[in-house]
Amino acid sequence: MSRRFIAGARCQGCASEDTLYFDSNSTSDVVMCVDCGFTEARPVTVAVATSSEAVEIVPLKFPMT
Ligand SMILES: [Zn+2]
Repeated sequence: MSRRFIAGARCQGCASEDTLYFDSNSTSDVVMCVDCGFTEARPVTVAVATSSEAVEIVPLKFPMT
């Protein structure tokens, strides 16, 4: 059980800054606010993918006829 505060993050519930922290669960991280109790599920894989591997963006191709 660990709290990792997110610097500069603004809570969507009470609009306060530096009150959000990651609450690590078994499956995914949940962003919580110490001020108003706001919670938001935030998968860990999003942050890992951007730093460890290249993100391939494939543009949608529509047939131009
Ligand atoms: Zn809040």
